[in-house]
Amino acid sequence: MKKLFLIIGAPGSGKTTDAQLIAKNNTDCIVHYSTGDLLREEVASGSEQGKIIDGFISKGNLVPLDIVVSTIVNAISKAPKDVIIIDGYPRSIEQMKALDEKLKVQTQVQLVSVIEVQVSEEVARERVLGRARGADDNVEVFNNRMSVYLTPLKEIESFYQKANVLQTINGERSIEEIVAEMESFVKSKI
Ligand code: AMP
Repeated sequence: MKKLFLIIGAPGSGKTTDAQLIAKNNTDCIVHYSTGDLLREEVASGSEQGKIIDGFISKGNLVPLDIVVSTIVNAISKAPKDVIIIDGYPRSIEQMKALDEKLKVQTQVQLVSVIEVQVSEEVARERVLGRARGADDNVEVFNNRMSVYLTPLKEIESFYQKANVLQTINGERSIEEIVAEMESFVKSKI
């Protein structure tokens, strides 16, 4: 059975960088997908679907459920390794429930853990506005992305806590420290 790890965290929490490094250190067994990167790839392809996606990303809003679910389900089913890390999912109650329904009716993939990278809003703001790498990195969009992240967070935490799969990690340290802790946690579960 393949093992799935989800990483959630505020914009600027470092979740994509952390997961990238862990996958890079373990190319024999771990593959990583960033939900945001998968969606941006679709935008870059210039497809009709990409144009729709762009309208949501550029405002910091969530891309519609059906698009996001099919994006990550495709990535999971094509994953070439036995351990899959996806960051940036779920970002809503409906995404969480949709994945739960999909996982319930199959036996190929097991959700092992949901890792929440915790950073304060101040640290997240400094990191995002400091790095400003794209059109969605300005103050208004940041504020919207932050509130979109925080709105369902308590319910997402309690759902995964009840399922005994929630793991929190302090994201306000150096990348090396965070990656070391996250990597040893992942490895202890595979
Ligand atoms: P990220 O790179 O994770 O910060 O994501 C960038 C943008 O991609 C977000 O602001 C959303 O517009 C979109 N996005 C990423 N993940 C999701 C998701 N799980 N559901 C809906 N939209 C998403």
